[in-house]
Amino acid sequence: MRLPAFGYLEPSTVEDAVELLAINPGAEIIAGGTDLIPNMKRRQISPSTVIALGTIDGMSGIQVDDDGGVTIGALTLLHDLAASSEVPAALASAAAEIGSPQIRNVATVGGNLCLDTRCGFINQTESWRLASGLCLKADGDVCWVAPKGEECVAVSSSDLAPVTVALDAEVGLVGPDGSRTLAASDLYRSDGIDHLGKSADEIVTALTVPPRPRWRTGYRKLRRRGTIDFPILGVAVAVEVADDGRVKDARIVLGAIAPAPMRMRQAEEALVGSRLDAEAIERAAELAAKPVRPYDNVDLGSRYRKWMAPVFITRALQDLR
Ligand SMILES: Cc1cc2nc3c(=O)[nH]c(=O)nc-3n(C[C@H](O)[C@H](O)[C@H](O)COP(=O)(O)OP(=O)(O)OC[C@H]3O[C@@H](n4cnc5c(N)ncnc54)[C@H](O)[C@@H]3O)c2cc1C
Repeated sequence: MRLPAFGYLEPSTVEDAVELLAINPGAEIIAGGTDLIPNMKRRQISPSTVIALGTIDGMSGIQVDDDGGVTIGALTLLHDLAASSEVPAALASAAAEIGSPQIRNVATVGGNLCLDTRCGFINQTESWRLASGLCLKADGDVCWVAPKGEECVAVSSSDLAPVTVALDAEVGLVGPDGSRTLAASDLYRSDGIDHLGKSADEIVTALTVPPRPRWRTGYRKLRRRGTIDFPILGVAVAVEVADDGRVKDARIVLGAIAPAPMRMRQAEEALVGSRLDAEAIERAAELAAKPVRPYDNVDLGSRYRKWMAPVFITRALQDLR
């Protein structure tokens, strides 16, 4: 597969990048390019111009803040995030399971957070899609996965996304109106096409994780092969344990089953006040898995993924004991 022709710009500051985005309608940002380039080769998107962030200084690195939180530059490589002992365990372990070593040596945190949604009907060559019929996400007028619905159900397949929601993290954004922060939970929208809660002309500059001294965090991922494959279910858990050993607060967030990460509040509430024993974990896993209704649009069957949800939630919570 060959790339289509496109213009290539290398700004030296994030402000310049924002300006270039504004004066080049239809331009796309590129960081590591491990998602954008395959999508361009498949003609899922055909930007006239690609604006590279790699030449901008000061957007990578992991820094412990004065309050004990951590700020991670958007251009930080996934390899460095996976190797960091300064970030919460869930973040490092999710990063370590993304793609392969080659991908993690090029791919960035910002690119992962902004990863396009995936679906068996869109992640195909252009000739395949033309032969089978175009879909809502690229130039068609029907969703082949849920033809009766009016929305695209392509899946949020970022491993970091559910973790950032579970950690109550925030992203730093720079756009034409200046800079702002946005809660990670607001960065994701339940729409397979318009899946990000930031505007297209805003650039993610950093991810900030608040201090969590008493929290235990973890991540479990279901995929066909033990490496390379995208998640077809991701379970991010974070639990605050009080001095008496009981759960004070909890987060259970599922990824790769819907266009946005899903927070399972009923299960979280059920954990609060209990010890992380087998009974409490079983009850929480049952409650968290109940609303899971994956579509048949990524690898392996939707029934299998639904069946595996309580198994993986249980394992993720057991890891925290
Ligand atoms: C074989 C293979 C396996 C993979 N496996 C996984 C996996 O297991 N889990 C997983 O989560 N992903 C996986 N990926 C997808 C991808 O490699 C990662 O998600 C990676 O982190 C994307 O980062 P990047 O820097 O390469 O992003 P890019 O490809 O450069 O960009 C991705 C998207 O984010 C936008 N973007 C990038 N940076 C910014 C920014 N700072 N601000 C605003 N927008 C931005 C781009 O415009 C683009 O739309 C896989 C990819 C391949 C090819």
